[in-house]
Amino acid sequence: TRARIVILGGGFGGATAARFIKTFLPEASVTLIEANSAYIACPFSNLVVGGERDIAEQTFGYDQTAAAGITVVHDTAIAVDATRHTVTGQSGAIWGYDRLIMSPGIDFRWDAIEGYGEEAATVFPHAWKAGQQTLLLRRQLEAMQDGGTVVMSVPPAPFRCPPGPYERASLIAQYLKTHKPRSKLLILDAQDQFSKQPLFEEAWAELYPGIVERRGAQDFGRVISVDPAVRSLATEFETVTADVANVIPPQKAGSIAHNAGVADATGWCPVDPVTFASLLQPDIHVIGDAIIAAPMPKSAFAANLQAKLCALQVSRLLAGLPPQPVPLTNTCYSFTSSNTAISITGVYSAGESGFRSIEGSGGLSPMNADSYVRENEAMQAKTWFDTITRQAFG
Ligand code: FAD
Repeated sequence: TRARIVILGGGFGGATAARFIKTFLPEASVTLIEANSAYIACPFSNLVVGGERDIAEQTFGYDQTAAAGITVVHDTAIAVDATRHTVTGQSGAIWGYDRLIMSPGIDFRWDAIEGYGEEAATVFPHAWKAGQQTLLLRRQLEAMQDGGTVVMSVPPAPFRCPPGPYERASLIAQYLKTHKPRSKLLILDAQDQFSKQPLFEEAWAELYPGIVERRGAQDFGRVISVDPAVRSLATEFETVTADVANVIPPQKAGSIAHNAGVADATGWCPVDPVTFASLLQPDIHVIGDAIIAAPMPKSAFAANLQAKLCALQVSRLLAGLPPQPVPLTNTCYSFTSSNTAISITGVYSAGESGFRSIEGSGGLSPMNADSYVRENEAMQAKTWFDTITRQAFG
């Protein structure tokens, strides 16, 4: 009989998984369930925040997915029954599956920062899911007077895109330097150390002197409460007032993962690192930001590669073949200005001991590099974005 594969979530993980499963198993019935009719990509959305890119360039539809023979359904999954092998949509529709691949991304822990709930996010945008939130933050920066203070709040790890807050800080600083040079950017950070830190700090000192100031966890940088009514953010040490505040709250696996029983007490999903099968619910595979894959980061690069490997292993399992361990890689590019970028690359083994960095592999952009090195990486980043979005959305 025809295998029924359901993919839940049409982002970088799920949209890629759907296309590759259909390639490996052309006879299978492949259904992609996605809440939104268009996907708005987070990678490069910091350029939109900085005023250097149009959100239309971030937006992708599912026409090519459907043209590849995948049944695309726009519905919000409200329940997964792992015993009966069914997914239920808000519309009342029910889909049965032989294998379910979930890539639901993240949701926010709205209870983690006092005063920061969904309503507060309409005043202090997170812009950590791209779309209206990205545009809101952009508009607030545009409306701010010269001499204003922008405050960013960064959560403790793990969160989606570890270098993302610092890329955003760079592009906000570029905007301030160019258009509002008396303004300041204060980063209140729940982390002490961060991804590509020496490279970012070098860029800030060189490109945006006197604009960016950061307080890490040891300097009481962690925001514990906010009050949007008076535009304040508080740490254990002080209360600051912001003209514009970007609060990136602590995160967890997308809520449907919790409903499906594939998330554990950490809020994230433990998986077999070779097949991405949930360790909690057999026949459900989970990929992307939702899974525990450290030291692999929560990135679109990682979600895309995990999707391809998950598609490969699911097609092997359905054919009665054993799964085949494959090493993984990740590269995260970050813009330090609209035409310069830096990167970090990791290489990982996947096996019984989980995901492991392979010693002596990977690396970072060099320090003190000539500008052409940084400009070249910005071009590589653009090629990467084009490639990955084509693989996911056609
Ligand atoms: P998502 O892409 O979020 O996809 C999840 C999908 O599932 C969504 O479309 C959602 O609508 C859908 N969904 C969820 N629940 C349901 C439900 N119940 N029913 C139906 N549909 C549902 N990564 C990089 O590699 N490089 C970068 O340069 C980069 N820059 C970034 C910059 C920013 C500012 C941010 C915030 C992130 C960045 N990332 C970057 C990270 C990247 O966006 C994520 O890692 C990636 O989107 C993860 O893919 P995913 O499939 O796990 O989740």
